[in-house]
Amino acid sequence: MTTPRPSDSLAIPAHLRPSDGRFGSGPTKVRPEQLTALAATGTTYMGTSHRQDGVRSVVKRVRQGIADFYGLPDGYEVVLGNGGATQFWDIATHCLIERRSEHLVFGEFSSKFAKAVSETPYLQDPVVHTADYGDAPTLTTEAGVDAYCWPHNETSTGVQTRVERPAGADDGAITLIDATSAAGGLPVDLTQADAYYFAPQKSFASDGGLWLAILSPDAIERAHRLVPDRWVPASLDLTIAIEQSRLEQTYNTPALATLFLMAEHLAWVNGKGGLKWAVERTADSSRILYTWAEKSPYAEPFVTDPAKRSMVVGTIRLADSIDASAVVKALKFNGIVDVGAYRAAGYNGLRVGLFPAIEPSDVEALTTCIDWVVDRL
Ligand SMILES: *Cc1c(COP(=O)(O)O)cnc(C)c1O
Repeated sequence: MTTPRPSDSLAIPAHLRPSDGRFGSGPTKVRPEQLTALAATGTTYMGTSHRQDGVRSVVKRVRQGIADFYGLPDGYEVVLGNGGATQFWDIATHCLIERRSEHLVFGEFSSKFAKAVSETPYLQDPVVHTADYGDAPTLTTEAGVDAYCWPHNETSTGVQTRVERPAGADDGAITLIDATSAAGGLPVDLTQADAYYFAPQKSFASDGGLWLAILSPDAIERAHRLVPDRWVPASLDLTIAIEQSRLEQTYNTPALATLFLMAEHLAWVNGKGGLKWAVERTADSSRILYTWAEKSPYAEPFVTDPAKRSMVVGTIRLADSIDASAVVKALKFNGIVDVGAYRAAGYNGLRVGLFPAIEPSDVEALTTCIDWVVDRL
């Protein structure tokens, strides 16, 4: 045992360190190749009009890339707009929830959507099922509920759920799945969802600022029925976003760099084998992380039910004798960043991005580095 040293001066030997130290859960690692490709566009893309072919062809690559990645069910459409997944909650509140929704709340993001709905004056109080951080509640079906809402992956706690339409729901009830961190890295049967919505800065290895939604014919129909009878600001009007997306553009100016990085990621991942390949990567990375934690004398998976442990965001509890913030600080000193637990989740531990752009061998290296640091603190 070496003499304990402060966490900001421990230099991990270079050969143990991961090739890329970005393990954040959002924004997530963007591959250097995507950034190089963006820089290589020079004067032909950034700074050109989003209503001209140059940019519209990138929007088209993104929409087609998502369609190819998932193999869209009949009638489903890829729709996009500005403002991130948070904006889509407001869009859903205005354009998709008719009178009453049900929500599964088990972390920061799922609770924000339920709160937005409960503050909406013309909607009834939602049905809300909650679970402690680290677990997920069970869905119930209720007469009068017209929209069932839950995250496919609760990014704050590293809990993943199943995407399955609730059996016994009212006719015409729709399912709205927050797939912000899940989409791109978790398996899904899209016929089980009416809106599978996400942002580009998680599993899709791009930057923030946009929302994207894969909408079923029922969701599209619902928006067209509700919007004419409500006051809906244009920037929240899903029917406008649908119309603009069909033209390969957005209602107002989008983040052009984000779109380009997303198109590049989709081309890369589709070239490797699409969703199936991406899921193999996240399965590998998550197996490496959780197996390490289970064997470790001082770490364990934060999520106790193995079926609920996320394949894209791994959460690890550390023994009370180890100060997780000192571990995070020591790793950061070595260029390994953003592995601190989500602040509100309230456990002594780590949160590790396991997204498809991250090399499973780097997750392995990370576990070695954590052991190395913990040995010396
Ligand atoms: C990150 C995240 C959001 C918020 O996304 P923004 O693009 O920042 O609005 C919502 N839901 C989940 C599950 C997330 O991980």
